[in-house]
Amino acid sequence: MTDRHPTDADLRGALVAANHILVREGVLDAFGHVSARTAPDADTFLLSRNLAPGSVTPSDLLVHRLDGESDDPRRPYLERFIHAEIYRRRPDVMAVVHSHSPSVIPFGVSDTPLRPVVHMAGFLAAERTPVYEISEHAGDASDLLITSPELGASLATALGSGAVALMRGHGSVTAGASIMEVVYRAVYTEVNARIQLQALTLGTPRYLSPGEAKAADQSVGAQARRAWDVWCRQVAQERNDTP
Ligand code: MN
Repeated sequence: MTDRHPTDADLRGALVAANHILVREGVLDAFGHVSARTAPDADTFLLSRNLAPGSVTPSDLLVHRLDGESDDPRRPYLERFIHAEIYRRRPDVMAVVHSHSPSVIPFGVSDTPLRPVVHMAGFLAAERTPVYEISEHAGDASDLLITSPELGASLATALGSGAVALMRGHGSVTAGASIMEVVYRAVYTEVNARIQLQALTLGTPRYLSPGEAKAADQSVGAQARRAWDVWCRQVAQERNDTP
């Protein structure tokens, strides 16, 4: 991926790599998904058909509209509305991850907020990562899935202008200005959650101050390409090693 506007093939290649990287890093498993807006200001985005992220290839990526639908007859993901409604509300967002990455889940079901404890996660809200409470929108007997534009819209509202929102008893959503940035953020959200949980077992963590989080986001976040390049090499190597 280069800094010029990517071609369709570039974009598909990067999104396939993102799928595989996020599996390798423990953010996605058989479930969860990552999408990318097709171009700046576009009302369409690329998201795989209903498939485990580790199995996604370029031809599995379907062009979806902001109503969550596509013209392709292949079966889409149930929760595609998460992506559609975030793109609808956030022109700055070019890529979205929805995951069930395990270390963040405790912060969505308890009264301890997810907060930045390491400098790699300065993109997290300094005081409290928002938690989306689906029962306020879907009642107390839903399957917790975001299966309609209306639920997607309420989740996108909970995310607001931030990078990450937690989904109670389910997972999280991460937004970024590029595929590279959203992958970096999704990986380090999981890392920060793991470290915060460890710190909480020792005592009261000292969190990054709002000023530290902002400064760290600007300097460390600008180096996301270093991680992206090595992660891309690793997944390409493993693809070549697979007989
Ligand atoms: Mn889900």
